[in-house]
Amino acid sequence: RIVYVDGQYVNEADAKISVFDRGFLFADAVYEVTAVLNSKLVEFAGHLERLQRSCRELSLTMPVAPAQLKTIHEELIKKNNLVEGGIYLQISRGNAGDRDFAFPGAEVKPTLVLFTQSRPVIDSPKVKTGIKVVTMPDIRWHRRDIKTVGLLAPCLAKEYAHANDADDAFLVENGFITEGSSSNAYIVLADNTIVTRPLSNDILHGITRKALLVLAARDGIKVEERLFTPDEAYHAKEAFISSATTFVWPVVSIDGKPVGDGKPGPISLRLRDIYVELAKAEVA
Ligand code: PMP
Repeated sequence: RIVYVDGQYVNEADAKISVFDRGFLFADAVYEVTAVLNSKLVEFAGHLERLQRSCRELSLTMPVAPAQLKTIHEELIKKNNLVEGGIYLQISRGNAGDRDFAFPGAEVKPTLVLFTQSRPVIDSPKVKTGIKVVTMPDIRWHRRDIKTVGLLAPCLAKEYAHANDADDAFLVENGFITEGSSSNAYIVLADNTIVTRPLSNDILHGITRKALLVLAARDGIKVEERLFTPDEAYHAKEAFISSATTFVWPVVSIDGKPVGDGKPGPISLRLRDIYVELAKAEVA
């Protein structure tokens, strides 16, 4: 793979980052993952806007202009002949030459890294099978609205899920589900209303979530943005997750209990279909 590191397109084996890079030492870095279909970016404007917000919240300076970022994405897609998958971008506060908690001065430039990941997005096997999730405490920090690379808690969540015969976790705080370990979480009620947690600092403001809620309303599907408990999820008709890497994946069991009839539900699949339509129209 060709990767991008600070202005250079290099073979992944030749890419170098300092051991003093603050992304490495402190997870002092933000990231974005944008889906790629037909060699084109899906919802890039949304990802760019969130990236700018993440940077602002952490007083992190964007190393290149927003328009330039898009060009770098497109160039890297081309260099890797990426047709379908994702593209990862990370901005860290850079290499301050030593380990010191306090932010370095403006002379230290942020580090910009991008790489591509080739994988099926449209024909993912999880769409047909759905995923199994387990609930567990949300031990993450309190600024989950900022997309930082401090991802140890979600790594532990995935490990816990895999150790318990599940694919992923629904994280629980004060008795309510916040989100998935790397996705937003939804349930579907008996009357086909979709319920998902409202935006706050407790969850990441998903780009896919934002589009889905607009598409659902347009499709005549009722949406309630409110808190919901694991118990309400156990008794829901359907459940699903959304993210740029999965789009929409149905959830077929929670804590070993089947959701509805234990198969991917029609509302989840309908939402996936209309999101795929939107994404395909954008990259046509
Ligand atoms: N929540 C968390 C914790 C995530 O890591 C992600 C994936 N980035 C999402 C939600 C979904 O966000 P998006 O739709 O923008 O990928």
